Amino acid sequence: MSAKIDFSVEELGKRGVKSPIKLSKVHGDFIANYVTDNEFVLYNVDVVLGDQPPIDRTQVFEAAGPREMIYFSPQHVHAGIVTCGGLCPGLNDVIRAIVRCLWFRYGVRRISGIRYGYKGLIPEYGFNTKELDPEVVDDIHKIGGTILGSARGGGKQVTEIVDSMERLNLNMLFAIGGDGTQRGALDIAEEVGRRNLKIAVIGIPKTVDNDFSFIQRSFGFDTAVNKAVEVVTAAHMEAHSQINGIGLVKLMGRESGFIAAHTALASHEVNFVLIPEVPFDIKGPNGLLHHLEERLQRRSHAVIVVAEGAMQDKLVKEVKTDESGNLKMVDVGRYLRDQIQEHFDRKKIEINLKYIDPSYMIRSAPAVPVDSIYCERLGNAAVHAAMAGKTKTIIGLINNEFVHIPMKAAVSQRNHVDPEGNLWRDTLDATNQPILMENKNPQGPTVSEGTDPLELSR
Ligand code: ATP
Ligand code: MG
Repeated sequence: MSAKIDFSVEELGKRGVKSPIKLSKVHGDFIANYVTDNEFVLYNVDVVLGDQPPIDRTQVFEAAGPREMIYFSPQHVHAGIVTCGGLCPGLNDVIRAIVRCLWFRYGVRRISGIRYGYKGLIPEYGFNTKELDPEVVDDIHKIGGTILGSARGGGKQVTEIVDSMERLNLNMLFAIGGDGTQRGALDIAEEVGRRNLKIAVIGIPKTVDNDFSFIQRSFGFDTAVNKAVEVVTAAHMEAHSQINGIGLVKLMGRESGFIAAHTALASHEVNFVLIPEVPFDIKGPNGLLHHLEERLQRRSHAVIVVAEGAMQDKLVKEVKTDESGNLKMVDVGRYLRDQIQEHFDRKKIEINLKYIDPSYMIRSAPAVPVDSIYCERLGNAAVHAAMAGKTKTIIGLINNEFVHIPMKAAVSQRNHVDPEGNLWRDTLDATNQPILMENKNPQGPTVSEGTDPLELSR
């Protein structure tokens, strides 16, 4: 972490209501406890021996969990839940957890699902809210997608959105979504503050790509890797059974290659992983095609995994954005498929190339148990935060502890695979691919002095 960020969390006001949750106040009892205001989680647990500077709020996050004194009287609460952006495994699990925690733990009886993202709060779209209770959400964790629907766009119409929240008498909003959603949620919370309203805005970060900063893992990520490994296994089987079989799999990862790298590590059947963080050339003496040809000569089959955001700096000729302002990407998978086919056609070498893009099947899958557990706990933590009157806050997992992260900090930067870090090093070990496939830079930055990168890659 470079610049220091204050991780203090905003609150709507004094907490004057006794929590209806019955927990012990006494530490040391074998009874689950409230979280006190003195409980924090250290962000960076790497230690340099020697004198340590005193710990301040730029180094610790507030621990999430139920407070003994809360801000809202449960019988006055009307909670809204919204899901925005692309699909991600676990969305329904989070919705279910929020509804059940509000209902059973706090006794809240008015919970409204906002339909189709922030558009559901903009009158011109005409979507009614969906009443939620434990009955409605009982089975929803078994299916993928979101029962509320999701959408892009609309997040900038803050005035209309907060007008609707006032009309609905909402006093808490749970925004489940990616960086765009959390930016939108922050804008909404700021408008709420300007109007002097008492509405808690809590974000539950959703990014299947795992690229939220500060958070150790985002929900849906494990499910995505599970599904991606199944696809790679199929691609490998196809490639292995053919003359010069090549399996090319495009995986999610607009800005970061976490899914691609983890899939390669888990499957051990991937020979080349291409991610946005590590530039590469296709042609030339140290380009992908050269190394692919070498691989086919040696082993007669190959599997390539490419993250959707790879190579975009070279491929995007014209900047176009979607409704939410996200850059429209060029399909790197198809581009690679065509380049590979052309290369071997020109050299009159027979190949059998199978291109698989499983993105939609992965994003819409129901969550695997590890993610379901995570979503359940995220949802609970979000409810405890809202009931305590926390706002402009997202729930994160840091060093295996649930914490409150100020939205402003969470959207300020993104998480990337560090090309010089140990995840990428282990990925290179798992694939045996050259450390760098760039013509201008045959000696990569991760190569230790005096080592030939091509030698290392064997
Ligand atoms: P994904 O990972 O699927 O892209 P996301 O939350 O980033 O998730 P977006 O479609 O980018 O999905 O944004 C979701 C919502 O947030 C949309 O309603 C959009 O209008 C709003 N939004 C996006 N960017 C901003 C921003 N910079 N400021 C305010 N609102 C935004
Ligand atoms: Mg986005």
